[in-house]
Amino acid sequence: MIITDTHTHLYSEAFDEDRHAMIHRAIEQNVTRFFIPAIDSTYTKSMLQLEADFPDHIFLMMGLHPTHVKENYKDELEHVEEMLTKRKFYAVGEIGIDLYWDKSTLQIQREAFRHQIRLAKHHQLPIVIHCRDAFDEIFEVLETEKSDDLFGIFHCFTGNLEQAKRAISYNMKLGIGGVVTFKNGQIDQFINQIDLQHIVLETDSPYLAPKPYRGKRNESVYIIKVLEKLSELYGLPQEKIAEITTQNSRSIFNI
Ligand SMILES: [Zn+2]
Repeated sequence: MIITDTHTHLYSEAFDEDRHAMIHRAIEQNVTRFFIPAIDSTYTKSMLQLEADFPDHIFLMMGLHPTHVKENYKDELEHVEEMLTKRKFYAVGEIGIDLYWDKSTLQIQREAFRHQIRLAKHHQLPIVIHCRDAFDEIFEVLETEKSDDLFGIFHCFTGNLEQAKRAISYNMKLGIGGVVTFKNGQIDQFINQIDLQHIVLETDSPYLAPKPYRGKRNESVYIIKVLEKLSELYGLPQEKIAEITTQNSRSIFNI
């Protein structure tokens, strides 16, 4: 069995004490593929170090996170563009719109999102979308940018069934993580109405730990709890869920 964590911030300061031990814990439990979203240029060096330490397991993305779209966003976008030209990345992410933390930057968040979608198309890469309190705004951008060469993942999907179908209509897979194990998470109510071919697994660690670790530091090995929950909801063995979702990750990231 191979389990793929399609979204994990393994370079986070939260893992400074035990990063290698934590990654080995996951690998021992068959979580062997880690896709690493970018946040901003301050993390690039640690991301590259992670890849150097675990070259068979770590797959990097490049992008500017919406909550880090600030006054210097043009310089940050230039960094993204330069890195994409310089070396191999597996996606442009995470990118999108976040109106939970800051509504005042909507204008530049939207501009950065659109710009990075175009970069992804240019490099024939998938996008990984971060959406918080911003479904309408995200869909508005996707509606104008949609095309055969736009595809990717709606990371940490927390919408309703209708929004799930709409995301899928834009060639997006749904990133399902710890929220599916939460009592008030709601996606457990309808997710089995979505064909598994549209689903990938993720932790978003160190954030959003699944039950029974909710509120604690999340790590990639806890993705097993997400797998268990989906196995229950779909009535399929865990091996089958792992196989299909890993296959989906391969078709998106092309590795
Ligand atoms: Zn993230």
